[in-house]
Amino acid sequence: MALVVQKYGGTSVGDLDRIRNVARRVARYREEGHDVVVVVSAMAGTTDRLLQMAHDLAELPDERELDVLLATGEQVTIALLAITLNAMGVPAVSMTGFQCRVLTDASHTKARISQVETEGLRRALDQGKVVVVAGFQGVDPATGNITTLGRGGSDTSAVAVAAALGADACEIYTDVDGVYTTDPNVCERARKLKRISYDEMLELASVGAKVLQIRSVEFAKKFGVPIHVRSSFSDDEGTWVVEESEEMEQVVVAGVAYDRNEAKVSVRGVPDRPGIAAKIFGALAERNIVVDMIVQDVGEGDRASMTFTVPKADLKRALAVIEPVAEELGATHVEADTGIAKVSIVGVGMRSHAGVAAQMFEALSREGINVMMISTSEIKVSCVIEEKYTELAVRVLHSAFGLDRENGANA
Ligand code: ADP
Ligand code: ASP
Ligand code: MG
Repeated sequence: MALVVQKYGGTSVGDLDRIRNVARRVARYREEGHDVVVVVSAMAGTTDRLLQMAHDLAELPDERELDVLLATGEQVTIALLAITLNAMGVPAVSMTGFQCRVLTDASHTKARISQVETEGLRRALDQGKVVVVAGFQGVDPATGNITTLGRGGSDTSAVAVAAALGADACEIYTDVDGVYTTDPNVCERARKLKRISYDEMLELASVGAKVLQIRSVEFAKKFGVPIHVRSSFSDDEGTWVVEESEEMEQVVVAGVAYDRNEAKVSVRGVPDRPGIAAKIFGALAERNIVVDMIVQDVGEGDRASMTFTVPKADLKRALAVIEPVAEELGATHVEADTGIAKVSIVGVGMRSHAGVAAQMFEALSREGINVMMISTSEIKVSCVIEEKYTELAVRVLHSAFGLDRENGANA
């Protein structure tokens, strides 16, 4: 008998038939004698719809209230799934993040889990119940406020619950049947991976492969939780995210990812002297706005441009912070560009190979794709390009690094 945590994403609980499908799958695990904790997302489209309503009512909705609103999506699905399981004769109980004590810090809309208390979960499991936990939400114990964990946060809820309970595995059920060499919805030659290391998955998630939220992989690596990414529509083996091992494919580039969720901001004509960057980025950090790439160009005379990217969702807030700072610094103007995307290649094999970045730039330039910003890490290279070239760039890089599968079925 094992203890499994299963997470079902928005598409897997997208309508009542799909909720029945999930309930049948859970029931089967129970029949096999396993203890099951299920973590669910809101029904597909719900979180987007709730966000849209808030933004229709206010330009910068209050973040505490946004969390109260967004958490309702998952509350609907936990209740619907528990109702279905109970009606099928499988005893089940739903728990919100507050009820099962998913404790977080106070950062509304992007809270971090500090602890998951397991007493309530264990009690329900000991009573022979399936526990259905709301993903994406927690509670700040200092204030009792509801918090949410950032888009895609149910993955992190699931892994955190699995780590706290010492579960044997954490299964992430989604609308694709595993982790691929790139998004299979963008590149039909993407290949399904049998295994991927925590480190590669961390980088892929950090540069936009939304199949797993980055924090879920951080938790899994820290607590040694094996993640199995698979489809809720089949019984096929998916992809195991585990510690790096000899058995893994020895390739330079393991995957290609893209991210359309960033915007570029340029502060033009700032004096080129010490302290300017500290002032700009200090102001953004104070407001908890995460900056990704940064480039400083030396301009004419003693003036420079500072260009950086922030999440599109934070752009309005970022501009509200930056405009007064730019004025104070004597900058000429501030520009924002939302028509950009970031494409990245990731692979632990890069540690021992030179020239990978050059190969990437060359592949992009052959298609006439201009690179606006570059950043690298030990196992990743990212380029900011015009958004309209995203899909082309992904396919070109996938091919250039030998990732295309042959015609026919996936391995
Ligand atoms: P869920 O709602 O189940 O959490 P998500 O939409 O968050 O699902 O994540 C699954 C999606 O991630 C897939 O539909 C796919 O388009 C996208 N994706 C991006 N990169 C990859 C990749 N390398 N492998 C698999 N899926 C990927
Ligand atoms: N419902 C949330 C979202 O759409 C959390 C999740 O699905 O993981 O981002
Ligand atoms: Mg997701």
